[in-house]
Amino acid sequence: MSALIEQTKTVQPRKAVLAMPEYHPPLAGRDALRLDFNENTFAPSPSVLRKLRQLTSEGLTIYPEREPVEHITATHFGLDSDQILLTNGVDEAIHLACCAFLDEGDEALICTPTFFMYDVSISLMTSGLKRVQSDDSFRFPFDRFIAAITPQTKLIIVASPNNPTGATASREQLLAIAAAAPQAVLMVDEAYFHFHGETAIEDVGKIPNLIVARTFSKAYGLANLRIGMLAGNARLISFIRKVSSPYNVNGVALAVLPDALADRTYIDWYVDQVRVGRERIFEALRELGVRTWPSAANFVLMDIGPRHKELCAIMREHGVLLRDRSADPGCEGYVRITVGVDHHVTTGIAALKWSLAKMGWKPAESRSSEGKSEGEREYE
Ligand code: PMP
Repeated sequence: MSALIEQTKTVQPRKAVLAMPEYHPPLAGRDALRLDFNENTFAPSPSVLRKLRQLTSEGLTIYPEREPVEHITATHFGLDSDQILLTNGVDEAIHLACCAFLDEGDEALICTPTFFMYDVSISLMTSGLKRVQSDDSFRFPFDRFIAAITPQTKLIIVASPNNPTGATASREQLLAIAAAAPQAVLMVDEAYFHFHGETAIEDVGKIPNLIVARTFSKAYGLANLRIGMLAGNARLISFIRKVSSPYNVNGVALAVLPDALADRTYIDWYVDQVRVGRERIFEALRELGVRTWPSAANFVLMDIGPRHKELCAIMREHGVLLRDRSADPGCEGYVRITVGVDHHVTTGIAALKWSLAKMGWKPAESRSSEGKSEGEREYE
């Protein structure tokens, strides 16, 4: 056996695989109130559950059929079917876009801190990843971002609202980026669109190099079914479709997606829960003296300072999961809390109050006390 292991060591992966970073989110031990992953904390639409109960055992034996559901999805968004690709979550969409558009030597542009999977999927294809770091206001660094575009830029990814900050890029800024880099694909990741309300999807078809990504993992509450989508220029989408497996999205997700899309009442209710809950969390954190940043998403980033790990551990003991974002660039001491439905927000706030009191935490511990930037003062 050990000889066999020795032998396999002579096989090496691509250099990019050795060099690329690994994403290590917690993959177990989440049996508590999940305020760590920005998921829907409650349930999907009741009509999704009704459809799930109608699925047959024979249905599980059939390869999934993506095309009819792409047609329904396209109609929902006022687009043609060839402008839509359904994917195994936006994670896969990012991966496929990188595979379709990036050669070694091409440049890809992101703003940091942001969703880590961009880093992983881009680095798999090229060593030309350029990161534009936001200052501590976490506002989208538009001028420096535009200035970082070069003739080699082939892919630009902007999450709006951004994760883990909750900051947004305006439609005008996004259109200016698309115009400044006609040789590149601009992917706008609208994973948290519902909690913000502004979208670039109306510009799909008008802006030739724009692709919008949407996940059904957040507001729709389907994270476990792994479904997301890309909407964009039909020619660009055709390259990504070519790279994808025809069976990338499972049939259970495909079966329920039309019901999820159709139940606008449910989505409006969930989004309202989050918008009200977000204000409650801001208010509680203000009272506790915890610095936050404006968020257009279903989460809030908090400045806890050096005892960030301790807070997460105490909250976990208290049955509430938070996400420590300290390892993200520019986020040392920062912890993210997801906004869920009303009673989950109530539990989260109570646990935060209790935990910070138990720690004897003081506002002076936060990083803000190191001195503030202009942007931060403006946001207070
Ligand atoms: N984009 C962003 C900005 C995210 O925060 C996440 C999930 N945390 C994703 C994409 C991944 O979405 P999905 O579950 O559809 O893969």
